[in-house]
Amino acid sequence: MKLIFLGTGGFQPTDSRHTLCLMIPELGIVFDAGTGAYRIKNYLATKDITFFMSHAHLDHIVGLTYLLPEMTMGTVESATVHGEQAKLDAIQEHLYSEHVFPVKMKYAWTPLDGPVDVPGGGRLTYRHQEHPGGSIGYRIDWPDRSIAYVTDTTANGSPESIDFVRGVDLLVHECDFEDKDESFAHMTGHSHTTPVAELARDAEVGRLMLVHFDPLAADTDHPIDIEVARNIFPKTTIANDLDEIDF
Ligand SMILES: [Zn+2]
Ligand SMILES: [Zn+2]
Repeated sequence: MKLIFLGTGGFQPTDSRHTLCLMIPELGIVFDAGTGAYRIKNYLATKDITFFMSHAHLDHIVGLTYLLPEMTMGTVESATVHGEQAKLDAIQEHLYSEHVFPVKMKYAWTPLDGPVDVPGGGRLTYRHQEHPGGSIGYRIDWPDRSIAYVTDTTANGSPESIDFVRGVDLLVHECDFEDKDESFAHMTGHSHTTPVAELARDAEVGRLMLVHFDPLAADTDHPIDIEVARNIFPKTTIANDLDEIDF
């Protein structure tokens, strides 16, 4: 199964990173709809798209509007958007205000209300996370593989956060800041390197891929100091836009 990183940045796009959007084309599953969502059209393999939204901050939702041509032309026939009720309400009220984006999209807005069965025989579970306004972390278990997507939260080593991703084959986790900027991480509700790597180690995940970097560092070869992470959890990589990962 392939996971495509359509966008790997946080807050705002940079020269080399669009904001977060991850896609599993063969199942039509998309995590978040940042500016990278304009690339969904290049990877369509299904007529139906299922979005799972971490929260409603603008860098994660603006791309919901980008699917208008595909939904109008019918290359995408239907799309479901899952997320917390309050976040879905905010998106519909504000992003789709006639003053902001004057076309109503024919999405099935579907608030999270327990585990969700997903294509391929998978089961999605989720967890509420600390972040300004709150966010949701996701995990999908199929019979033969698993993935977790955890962004816009402060990794803190809590037993709940470890149990949620325990043993997952692929953990995609935000790492907005290096350790030297720990105070910014706490101030903004984001993560810094060491606690993220410790989470991967303590939960015994298969591999860790980092996303959602500070835009000021996002275009450098090392948006965070990868060796700090690898000294704690060797199977750590920095995700880049258009990476295709078999998991
Ligand atoms: Zn964000
Ligand atoms: Zn956020």
